[in-house]
Amino acid sequence: MPPRGRVRACHHGRVHELGLLRSVVTAVEKAAGEAGATGVQAVGLQVGTLSGALPEALEGAWPIATAHTVVDGARLEIETVPAAVWCPTCAAEQPVDEYYTLTCPACGTPSGALVRGRELAVTFADLDIPGHD
Ligand SMILES: [Zn+2]
Repeated sequence: MPPRGRVRACHHGRVHELGLLRSVVTAVEKAAGEAGATGVQAVGLQVGTLSGALPEALEGAWPIATAHTVVDGARLEIETVPAAVWCPTCAAEQPVDEYYTLTCPACGTPSGALVRGRELAVTFADLDIPGHD
């Protein structure tokens, strides 16, 4: 397959990221509810470079996704996870670029073994729990 430029669907991106964030907010709301939290200070999110979500679009959609929920006003802390494949020739993880070529950049061995890069996961939620600091 020839290399191709990345097309950023800016006008669609926000809707896509908003949908992803709604499930993040639902997960944090559940955790906050179970902990008896009255608010959320911050939410940590790991975002793989191949997750299909753009950090800047996530940041933009965050206030909309959290509006009128217990997560409203929480800080979004995004940790970008660079994509990597396992290369059997190098016997090591090797980073791959966002074009998802799945070829080892060091030795050129094709590798379909993506070990990182598709994450879109909540890493922490900093909850306001009455009676705790
Ligand atoms: Zn290699």
